[in-house]
Amino acid sequence: MMQIEHNFIRALHFIRHHRLHAPDKPIHEVYQSSTINALLEGFYDGTMTYGQFRKHGDFGIGTFNGLDGEMIGFDSHFWQITADGRAHTGPDEYQTPFATVLFFNPHIQQKLEGPLDYPGLCRLMDGIIESANLFSAIRIDSRFHHIRTRSVSRQTKPYPPLTAVTENQPVFDLNEVSGTLAGFRFPEFADGMNVPGYHLHFLSDDRLTGGHVLALEIEHARLAIDDTTNFHIELPTDASFLSADLGGNRSDDIEKVEK
Ligand SMILES: [Zn+2]
Repeated sequence: MMQIEHNFIRALHFIRHHRLHAPDKPIHEVYQSSTINALLEGFYDGTMTYGQFRKHGDFGIGTFNGLDGEMIGFDSHFWQITADGRAHTGPDEYQTPFATVLFFNPHIQQKLEGPLDYPGLCRLMDGIIESANLFSAIRIDSRFHHIRTRSVSRQTKPYPPLTAVTENQPVFDLNEVSGTLAGFRFPEFADGMNVPGYHLHFLSDDRLTGGHVLALEIEHARLAIDDTTNFHIELPTDASFLSADLGGNRSDDIEKVEK
């Protein structure tokens, strides 16, 4: 009996290890340019194009050159939600100072029944994710009673810090709408590199509007989660980045700009 249990546990370990590190597939990793602390500090000049990002993922979130709106990507499309709340298909040559993508390959899929608000959704997902110490990509296709999003407007130099930009962020409220949420949950130890905890963007089913999610109430939804152990980051190499002070705990600033 003990031997059978032992073999079963070994088999589970093999399945998990094989899924996270499948040797016969392209590397399954989160791919990101720059860091959240650099974005907070006002580093809004694009360092990579979305065409380049496409080689590293078909799913993700981010922003655009000069902080020109919010990005949401899924089903191999990258959309731009500009400061007027409108969604556009973002051309591949658009640059971004900060984006996070991966090839979405969910291993957890389940139905969610509402009503669920944002904190309730996060608590529910806390009980579903494999571990709080992995990188989790999240997609939720949902009917919403309500969703509140925001976008950001294109900035000119000298760039203000992100906390100053989001003080005047345009906010959009939508009622009885269907759409897709895409984003990530990063562990607490990702602080400084990305946003610890949940960070989701929205695009409506009619592909007309969306943004960074501030609040929601789900009627019913389908949840899909894809965990990975791999995180690849490409840092800018310009002199201003190389000489900037990007350390320190900025969780108060992150709370301000994300929530
Ligand atoms: Zn966002």
